[in-house]
Amino acid sequence: MDMIDIINKKKKGDFLSSDEIHFFVSHYTKGLIPDYQASALLMAICLKGMNPKETLALTQAMLESGKKADLSAISGIKVDKHSTGGVADTTTFIAIPIAAACGVKIAKMSGRGLGHTGGTLDKLGAIKGYNAFPTIEEWTTIVSKCNGALIGQTEDLAPADKKIYALRDASGTVDSLPLIASSIMSKKLAAGNDAILLDVKTGNGAFLHNLEETKALAQMMCEIGNQLGVQTEAIITDMSQPLGQAIGNSLELIEASQILQGEKPESRLTQVSLELAARMIHLAKICDSIESSRRLAKETLRSGLAFQKWEEMVKLCGGEVAPLKNPELFPKSRYTKTLLATRTGYLTHMETQQIGRCAMLLGAGRAKKEDPIDLYAGILLHCELGSFIRSGDPLATFYTEKEQSLNEVENLFRETLLFSEQRPATLPPLFY
Ligand code: URA
Ligand code: CA
Repeated sequence: MDMIDIINKKKKGDFLSSDEIHFFVSHYTKGLIPDYQASALLMAICLKGMNPKETLALTQAMLESGKKADLSAISGIKVDKHSTGGVADTTTFIAIPIAAACGVKIAKMSGRGLGHTGGTLDKLGAIKGYNAFPTIEEWTTIVSKCNGALIGQTEDLAPADKKIYALRDASGTVDSLPLIASSIMSKKLAAGNDAILLDVKTGNGAFLHNLEETKALAQMMCEIGNQLGVQTEAIITDMSQPLGQAIGNSLELIEASQILQGEKPESRLTQVSLELAARMIHLAKICDSIESSRRLAKETLRSGLAFQKWEEMVKLCGGEVAPLKNPELFPKSRYTKTLLATRTGYLTHMETQQIGRCAMLLGAGRAKKEDPIDLYAGILLHCELGSFIRSGDPLATFYTEKEQSLNEVENLFRETLLFSEQRPATLPPLFY
């Protein structure tokens, strides 16, 4: 098979055979195809697209490039959950303990954050002693014992995706629906679960800003999962403002733990977390309707059982639990600054991706893969879309070790907010 023929075929908009797609993925992963040929093909895919059959073959080829995690030691239906990423998207630390407390088996691997979005693996790093890389035996034992364990993504999970993603990042070929869908699903399917729940974000803080594209991506990923024998469902949720109030690793852990202890019962973060937990409960066939799953999720949060489960999960992974109850025990950033509103009005717009970038600049995230992060830096928001704010009211508090960044980030942050004298007629729905 010849790579030039494959590139030319896609350039003309023809469909690639499953053999051609497997040839590309396996040979590129082994280093037998140069980056310039691979990026030419990726660009052709970006411009000409892929049909469902090609997208499925691409996912399968990337999935087969590595080993599938063997979760057979865990009995019952194992349910995974994945968010396409956003700002203050802390649902994992709330939905997973709720679902685990209801009996769902969750062996979840998570990655690091990049750019304006956070990553669960980084947030776990803020828990002292937490072992995010246990052996597979240790991991499955913990899940068998307490139903849930959150760990880091292992190196051998869909290695083709790691290599292709790095090339996409460097060649302007990230934003293609079939490439995104196959990238996400190859990793999720390699994680070895029986069911997958996807939280696909839409809005100006999400990967995809446009609702039609978001729907198409959700549909594509569900079709791939279901065709490869893993029951896959998606919900589409709003990311046109940060989901929670806290942006940054320890700050998000603290907010999640507060919600698990009964605070902010009506917040958007609580609502999305409850819906995700309910759908995981339903996918695990613990309740036979989505309504009864929702009631069970809500009751498990209210009763405190979900917080107990969270403490148990953290303890079994070696993590210190005292700070989850008493956030004062987390290290403090040396510099803090609270921004006050300089005018009165309704908050009508938030530039969410830019707010995520502000947290990154304070130290909470990384611009490049290799950058270090500050686990305690970030932003606590005191406003949300539709809030009526008086001049002098607090808008946000910054936490950082980088005193010199405070003024620059303050200016950037202020630019992300738009105010109006009129109350906004509508706010974006939380669920689509
Ligand atoms: N997340 C992924 O894992 N892959 C993509 O291509 C986009 C988002
Ligand atoms: Ca994430």
